[in-house]
Amino acid sequence: MREIVHVQAGQCGNQIGAKFWEVMSAEHGISPTGDYIGDNELQLQRINVYFNEGQEGRYVPRAILTDLEPGTMDSIRSGVYGSLFRPDNFIFGQSGAGNNWAKGHYTEGAELVDSIMECVRKEAEGCDMLQGFQATHSMGGGTGSGMGTLLVSKIKEEYPDRIISTYSVIPSPKVSDTVVEPYNATLSIHQLVENADQCYALDNEALYDICFKTLKLANPTYSDLNHLIANAITGTTCSLRFPGQLNCDLRKLAVNMVPFPRLHFFLVGFAPLTAFSSQSFRVLTVPELTQQAFDAKNMMCAADPRHGRYLTCAMMFRGSMSSEEVDNEMLQMVNKHSSYFVEWIPNNLKASICDVPPKGLKMSSVFIGNSTAIQEAWKRVADQFTVMFRRKAFLHWYTGEGMDEMEFTEAESNLNDLVSEYQQYQDATADEEDISGDFDDEAYGEE
Ligand code: GDP
Repeated sequence: MREIVHVQAGQCGNQIGAKFWEVMSAEHGISPTGDYIGDNELQLQRINVYFNEGQEGRYVPRAILTDLEPGTMDSIRSGVYGSLFRPDNFIFGQSGAGNNWAKGHYTEGAELVDSIMECVRKEAEGCDMLQGFQATHSMGGGTGSGMGTLLVSKIKEEYPDRIISTYSVIPSPKVSDTVVEPYNATLSIHQLVENADQCYALDNEALYDICFKTLKLANPTYSDLNHLIANAITGTTCSLRFPGQLNCDLRKLAVNMVPFPRLHFFLVGFAPLTAFSSQSFRVLTVPELTQQAFDAKNMMCAADPRHGRYLTCAMMFRGSMSSEEVDNEMLQMVNKHSSYFVEWIPNNLKASICDVPPKGLKMSSVFIGNSTAIQEAWKRVADQFTVMFRRKAFLHWYTGEGMDEMEFTEAESNLNDLVSEYQQYQDATADEEDISGDFDDEAYGEE
């Protein structure tokens, strides 16, 4: 069975989570009322990974929807897919977090977290063989970021041997004008480095650029960004939901993708990119799908893989195609661009094929990359953090909730350490005598 419990927190977390359930349900032939209306037995083979079977054969998402204010959840409930979710699994407060991580993590959120954990426990107990958890949230706000990471740490504490995967939205000034977002994001990363097993870095900066430059949308909205994010989440969970060989559960994915425990943040690429309002009916070939999903322009994180090296990556094709062609294509990719893959992890590009394409497309590809280039996104956040923190700007909002300035200092150095660890592995070569030996001491030392 190998079930997953899904948790979504905050405005962004709920919006992208709801979109994921909508698109994913459609892929499995589940109607907005939870009835199976599909036409392919592959849709039901692993349906239990994400759905519970309720009364009268209805399929109910194993999802928990949480927020510190009712607005976003009200609109999910009144939307087309609103009745799909279990009514008891909507857990929300009234106070809001006012974009303050401290409110989400230490005060308002901490008050709500016990009732959320109760719901998590109930869902986990109903599982045959729970494989782990996934969370959707933003890093820039207060609830998804503060309370979201509190939930991750509570889950980690209670289920230390289960995998926790997060879909984490990185803030960008191009999309939001809340000035404290770099604080919230840095405090979140500090938590996710320690408590999550794998994090998909979905960066509003890159998503905005894809909408604006590639899809030619003059004024991208959250709907447009979330359409791309839904592609990323359904794409990266495809191997968990449909029968196949590679990365068929969260743990196998983690084992293949995470060579060092702290370096578990992934880039996601998707092809073909389409706008929310238009569907591309152009059929792409395997070489085109490979080239596009690998393309820096298609990465949903503002980090150029050509500036770093891949520690590991996985490519998932969807639709019907020849596996020989896929294998060939992968071989060529590695041979042609060998300098982009660290040579000290052989065969670090894996590929698989899922027969079921996304709705509205004949074929697609999803790319997951553990690239040292992700340090570019972290540096951006760290720089924005440091200019404000140097003057202690806006700090009173956080200390006012009882936070110690020390936590900011620690979060800042943890983020800087993360960046230098990526850099060291980027520079590491196969013939260096001892890559791991004294590495840790150095990585944690002063910059
Ligand atoms: P919370 O409700 O306190 O967790 O706050 P939000 O989720 O609104 O967090 C604000 C951050 O999330 C900002 O960086 C926003 O740009 C981003 N954000 C909010 N809603 C969405 C959304 O629907 N999609 C995307 N991609 N980003 C969002």
